[in-house]
Amino acid sequence: MSKERVSLSFFKDSKIDYFYDNKEKTITFPCFKCESHAIMNVVDTSWNCSSGCSKGNIFELIKTSKESIIEKSVYNPKKEFKRIEYRFNKLSKTGNKEIEELRDIVYGLINYYKSIV
Ligand SMILES: [Zn+2]
Repeated sequence: MSKERVSLSFFKDSKIDYFYDNKEKTITFPCFKCESHAIMNVVDTSWNCSSGCSKGNIFELIKTSKESIIEKSVYNPKKEFKRIEYRFNKLSKTGNKEIEELRDIVYGLINYYKSIV
C-alpha cells in the first residue's frame, strides 16, 4: 500500500477530520497539541503544525492519536463549496432572479481564485 493510501486510511479509520488536496498531495488536519492545523505531505508522510508546535511522520501521528481523542475539525473548502451550492440550488427554486445573479457572481469569483492558486 502506498504511503498516501496508508495516511488516508489512518485519518478515515481514526475518525479524525481532514482535508485531502489531491493536486498538492497534502492532508490538512487539526494539530493534536494546539488549536492550529497541521499539513502532511502524503508522498513521505512528513507533517508540520502550522504554528510550529510539533512535527513528525505518520508513525508518530499514529502513536500520538492512541494517547489522545481528537475531536477538532479543519476548514474543508470542498465541503464548504457543496454547502454553498446546495443553498443556491434551494434558493434559486424560489424563482428569484437576484439569487441567480448572485450565484453567478459567487461562482465567477470562486473560479477566478481557483485559476490563480
Ligand atoms: Zn500545533
